[in-house]
Amino acid sequence: MNTEAQWYFPLNDETLQCRLCPHNCILKEGKSGICRVRFNQEGKLLTQVYGFVSAINFDPIEKKPLYHFYPGSTILSIGTYGCNLRCFFCQNCGISQTAAEPELPRSNYTPDQIIQMALKRPGNIGIAFTYNEPVIWYEYMYDIARLAKKAGLKTVMVTNGFVNKEPLEALLEYIDAFSVDLKAFNEEFYAKVTSSQLEPVKQTLKQISLAGKHLEVVNLVIPGLNDNETAFSAMAKWIATELGRETVLHISRYFPNYKLTTEATPVSSIRNLKRLAEKELSYVYTGNMHTESSDTHCIKCNNILITRHSYAVSAVGLDAEGKCKVCGNFFLKKT
Ligand code: SF4
Ligand code: SF4
Repeated sequence: MNTEAQWYFPLNDETLQCRLCPHNCILKEGKSGICRVRFNQEGKLLTQVYGFVSAINFDPIEKKPLYHFYPGSTILSIGTYGCNLRCFFCQNCGISQTAAEPELPRSNYTPDQIIQMALKRPGNIGIAFTYNEPVIWYEYMYDIARLAKKAGLKTVMVTNGFVNKEPLEALLEYIDAFSVDLKAFNEEFYAKVTSSQLEPVKQTLKQISLAGKHLEVVNLVIPGLNDNETAFSAMAKWIATELGRETVLHISRYFPNYKLTTEATPVSSIRNLKRLAEKELSYVYTGNMHTESSDTHCIKCNNILITRHSYAVSAVGLDAEGKCKVCGNFFLKKT
């Protein structure tokens, strides 16, 4: 069912502007925004995706990826259709690069039904907004997140970070943890490969960090497009300076998908970039690299805190308060 959206302003009788994300689409009567799921009908901005769920699963939290937020837990994960970006390499293009056509496979859930499902599953910590870009179903995410807080559930947003400051500010109160893509440290890449911009994503990262929310950053390395060592090192340095040296960085190996046929990232390249990132950051993990260790070591005494074998996770070196069992260094922040 189409529902009135938030974050829009009329420009005249026929035209309005959506100010949810930095595209700030100006929409004439009957037209949809770049995300394909928000449209102008008789001077009102409507969303087509309120309660329109394309995928719903109980996932390991490590799959988001979040490695330092309730490690080893399960989280109810939901997504819809559409996206405000056009990444050539999108791994979820089947749901992200389409409009929310009525004939597409979907389930409809009210926010309360999502909450009840999350509460019923033993061991489930909360709800993750993921799979496609959750910003574009802002109203539904916001309503669920508010109810989730009242119910004592955790909330997670897996996002490209391309959102305007005011809507993000309103949401921050209700989201506990963020996994944010920093796709490259290069405006040209963002413009050509994703049809968006880097600067707003940097602002989003700083805003989340300043709000004291749990934040992990993901960089997918694509050969020839964003694997330049100088730019990569500058990105790691920026994360350390602006977000903190202990911000988690996931460096993921790319595989061909959607419009990009470039061969998969060489393993040696990921290993090399990991070494560079570790000069700036305390916690750097590789993704889509099943041969590599993704254990977490204590930054003070090097004791193994958490072991990970695929999604089998064990906090072997942590006490009940989230401190290193050997040196007592505080590791896990409870939210
Ligand atoms: S959310 Fe959609 S309609 Fe709104 S500005 Fe972004 S792309 Fe445009
Ligand atoms: S932001 Fe994510 S979901 Fe959207 S097109 Fe890019 S990779 Fe796909």
